[in-house]
Amino acid sequence: MLIDCCRARNFPKGALIIMSEITFQDLALADPIQRALKAKGYTTPSPIQAQAIPVLLEGHDLIACAQTGTGKTAAFALPVLDGFARNPRKPFRRGVRCLILTPTRELAVQVTESFKTYGEGLGLKIGMVFGGVSEKPQIKALYGGLDVLVATVGRLLDLKQQGHVDISQVDTFILDEADRMLDMGFIRDIRKIAAAIPQQRHTLLFSATMAPEIRIAPQGTTAENIDQHVLFVKKADKQNLLIDLVQEHQDNSQNKELSLIFSRTKHGAKNLAKKLCSVGIEADSLHGNKSQNARQNTLDMYKRGDVRVLVATDVAARGIDVKNITLVINFDLPMESEAYVHRIGRTARAGESGKALSFCSEDEVALLREVEKLIKRKVPIYDHDYHAAHIEHHHTSGAPAQKPKQGGGGGGGGGNRGPRQGGGGGRRGGQGGGGGRPKPKSDSRPSGGFQKAAGAPRSNRSRGRNR
Ligand code: AMP
Repeated sequence: MLIDCCRARNFPKGALIIMSEITFQDLALADPIQRALKAKGYTTPSPIQAQAIPVLLEGHDLIACAQTGTGKTAAFALPVLDGFARNPRKPFRRGVRCLILTPTRELAVQVTESFKTYGEGLGLKIGMVFGGVSEKPQIKALYGGLDVLVATVGRLLDLKQQGHVDISQVDTFILDEADRMLDMGFIRDIRKIAAAIPQQRHTLLFSATMAPEIRIAPQGTTAENIDQHVLFVKKADKQNLLIDLVQEHQDNSQNKELSLIFSRTKHGAKNLAKKLCSVGIEADSLHGNKSQNARQNTLDMYKRGDVRVLVATDVAARGIDVKNITLVINFDLPMESEAYVHRIGRTARAGESGKALSFCSEDEVALLREVEKLIKRKVPIYDHDYHAAHIEHHHTSGAPAQKPKQGGGGGGGGGNRGPRQGGGGGRRGGQGGGGGRPKPKSDSRPSGGFQKAAGAPRSNRSRGRNR
C-alpha cells in the first residue's frame, strides 16, 4: 500500500489535522492507547494518521511519503502499539518484536519517546540503541528482550555481531526517514539487517522525501504554513545579517519562541554559536563532534527554552521535534537539496506557523537552484541591508553556477561587533551598507515579518522597500 501525504495541499493554514473528519474514537485503537491520546489532548488524526492507521491495523505493508511534522511517528506507532495491546506476549531473551531504524540518534530518541507516551499503560519494554554512548546500558536493556527497539544502523549491527541482540523473530520492521538512511550510505547495512529478519513480517517505510531508489511518490513538497525566503548575501556579511535576524526575532517574539540555525559544518556551527554569544545572544550548538550526552543536554535546554537559539548541522535536521521553533535560518544552504525540506520542517510543526530564511552567497546559487527544482517553486526574495544584488542577478539570469566544495561554508566573514547594548535590537556600528533591519522584498510580500504568528500588527518596516 502506498500513501502520499506530501501533496496534501488542502491543509487549512495553521492546522495539522482539521481536514480529517474522523476522530481517534472512530479508529479501532485499544483503550489504553485511546486514553494516552486523550491525555496528550489529541482528538483528531492528521491526514497521514487517518490514512495510514486503518491500513496498518488491517495488517498491510506500507510505503508512505508524508511531510515532516505531520504526525507520521504516531501514524506508525499507534497501530504497532495496538497490536501489542491485543496480543500481549513476553519478548524472549535478547529478542525484539518490533524494530525501527532511524538515520540519527536524535530521531531515535524522539521516536522512542513517542512510543513510550502513546504506549503508556501497556507495560511494554521499549528501548533504543545508538552510537556515541556507552554500549553497556544498551546491552543490559536488550538482555531481557524488548517489545520495541529503536536503533541506528551501525550500533545495531555492532550489538548483533556481538550476540547481544537477536532480531530473528522481529515481526514488524519500520524504516523511518528511509531516504535519509540511503543518503547516508546505509543501504548495505539495511539489507544485512533486513536479511536477518523473518521474510514473513510487517514492513513499513516512512519518509518525508523519497530517494530515487525508492521513489514512489511526488517528493519535495514543504509544509504549507512555512513562510520561506531567500536572502542574497555576500559570505563576508552573513554573520552580521544573522545577528540582525536573530536579534529581531528575539525582540519581536515571545520568550518561548526559538530559532534554529543550520550550518554546513560542525566547526561552523560551533563558531556561529560562539559569535552569537559574543554579541549577547545566548546560543548553543548541536553537531556530531559533541558527545551524545552533551547533545542531549543541549537539546533538553533548548526544548525548555533555557537557550533560545541553537546552531546545528544536518544531524539535527530530522531529529528535532520542538514545538516552539518559529524561525529557521539556513546560514549555509545544504549540499543535498532534500535536506532543505527537512531543515525547514523543524518549524511550523504540529500545525503552528513558522518562518524559514535561507542565506545564499555567490557560491551557493547552484544549491538554491537545486532547492527550487526540488520544491517546484521559486523561493521569494527577502530584502535586507546586506542584499547582494549581483548574486540575485546571477541566480535569476540562469547563468551557469558551480556547487561549492563539500565541507565549505559554516563560517562566513563577519564584522567585529561588540556585545549587544541594552535591549534595543543589536544595531550595527559603522558598517557599510547602512543600518536598519532585514525586511521582505516588496515583490514577494510575505505575511507577517517577524511578528508573532498570532497575527500581531505588521510594522511599516516589514513592508519591504524599493531599491
Ligand atoms: P511527527 O511528524 O511525528 O514528528 O509529529 C509532529 C508533531 O505533531 C509532534 O510534536 C507530535 O506530538 C504532534 N502530533 C502528532 N499527531 C498529532 C495529532 N493527531 N494531534 C495533534 N498533534 C499531533
